[in-house]
Amino acid sequence: MSKDKIQQTARIYALQNAVQFNGKANPKAVVGKVIAVLQKEGFSPKEIIPIVNSVIVDVNKIVLDKQKAELQKLAPELLKKEKKERDFSLPKLPDAEKGKVVTRFPPEPNGYLHIGHAKAAIVDYEYARRYDGKFILRFDDTNPENAQLEFYEAQKKDLKWLGIEWDEEYRTSDNLEKHYKLAERLIKQNNAYVCQCSPDDIKHGRFHGNECNCCGTVCVDNQELWKQMLNSSLDGAILRLRGDMTCDNTAMRDPTLFRIIDKSHPIHGDKYRVWPTYDFAGAVEDSISGVTHPFRTKEYELRDECYFKILEFLNLRKPHLMEFARLSIEGMPVSKRKIKPLIESGKVSGYDDIRLPTLRGLKKRGILPAAIKQFVLEQGISKVESSVTFGLLESANRKLIDPIAKRYFFVKDPVKIIVDNAPSITKKINLHPDNKKLGDRSIKTDKIFYVQKSDIDKLKVGDIFRLKDLYNVKINDKKKEISTEFAGDKLIADSAKIQWTTDNHLKMKVFVPHLLFEKDKYNSKSLEQVEGFAEDAVSSLKTGETIQFERFGFVRIENENNKITGYFTHK
Ligand SMILES: [Zn+2]
Repeated sequence: MSKDKIQQTARIYALQNAVQFNGKANPKAVVGKVIAVLQKEGFSPKEIIPIVNSVIVDVNKIVLDKQKAELQKLAPELLKKEKKERDFSLPKLPDAEKGKVVTRFPPEPNGYLHIGHAKAAIVDYEYARRYDGKFILRFDDTNPENAQLEFYEAQKKDLKWLGIEWDEEYRTSDNLEKHYKLAERLIKQNNAYVCQCSPDDIKHGRFHGNECNCCGTVCVDNQELWKQMLNSSLDGAILRLRGDMTCDNTAMRDPTLFRIIDKSHPIHGDKYRVWPTYDFAGAVEDSISGVTHPFRTKEYELRDECYFKILEFLNLRKPHLMEFARLSIEGMPVSKRKIKPLIESGKVSGYDDIRLPTLRGLKKRGILPAAIKQFVLEQGISKVESSVTFGLLESANRKLIDPIAKRYFFVKDPVKIIVDNAPSITKKINLHPDNKKLGDRSIKTDKIFYVQKSDIDKLKVGDIFRLKDLYNVKINDKKKEISTEFAGDKLIADSAKIQWTTDNHLKMKVFVPHLLFEKDKYNSKSLEQVEGFAEDAVSSLKTGETIQFERFGFVRIENENNKITGYFTHK
């Protein structure tokens, strides 16, 4: 009776844990939970632990869908609770009210989105959903030197792939007239002035904490100079905030609010020449668009003071500004300064190269959007600078694809063997060891096989090995060519199991990415090409399918006009 009770409780919590972690329950976590529940009722850990462990083995044999279904029957309340906890793994927002939270993701349309952007977008989006609030996509496109037409759409495409939907979308550049009005307000208040010094002088002045001569210009003259900036009769001038040139925070030493950029804008052409800086546009847009909790990365921390000063002078609402550390992956840089030359010299194929942490690169490699989301949320919103290894993203991805990826044989470095007395048969082999829903494939076999050279090298004459999922083969000679013979199909304990293909195979290439940078230097061996034979069934797979080549790794397939290429996802 008491054993039944433990078994029942263990089953429920094992299912709950398995559902939470993509089908595989973690013994430690489940044991802890079951003990916590049952100790109160007088059960001892000694009784509990062995039963829990055996229950977990059973539960982990079931596919995820069935685990969910069973949990739904046994304890539906746990199924719901787990789902909520997972989605909302971020800490609570300060001063946040349900229905009133507004967040925004403000990319500059100057390139494809990468893992760092994904973090910002996911955090902003998740918080908006968590509080039933609003999520805004805002293109911060007020630097015509950076903004490029193609990237507005490209970034939206990347976000959609990531599973992110926005409630509102706009371009900061469409609000330029509003920004000008606010600038005039600052000038009239004498909180901003036009500076005509050279960039070097300005830099020098900021460094030494010295005001420039323009700082003393009276209000009326600044209004006139500002007009001249706008109507093109004044060149080489900027509008600066009256901050504090002696402030310890150098970001407050009369920061630039507007500058002249004589370059055509992808949306507005030559309509404007005076453009706000990030300091100005970021603060103003967050406030006037109703954002309550804007996030930015920690390197802007020193600029927070400036953000709030601008809003204070303008008497605009101050949002609850939040910061988190920038997310980067070791050896996979995102900066254009590093990547662009590699693309130009052909060392990297483009921004969708599988060695890059751009969303397009990750997609091409076979990383699922859900894995990126989970990875990002696991990192959380701490301010501690985090450069993490690809392994963390890899393990999130593996948990998701392992239960659903079809298994196939792939033989790299193939050598031919002829099996004497081999029966001609058609063998059905499951596409997944546990997930029977995936079905099977049929392979016709005769005498000719290809196996991996290194597998055969390990065996001696007289050894019997097993062609995996097929039958046993004995090695008779290895001198010139490898001669072997059929040795029955009864399983022999400890015999080597070897991947194989028949004469009817698919010759294909798999690109295997390694770290693009090692010790901050380009790694010339970062892209390996592995050639080999895959079983014929692979030739009918479609672009985008990620499969597992057994003992090789997960591979995303691309099928372009019946030419099959593989991109190695991870082990
Ligand atoms: Zn000046």
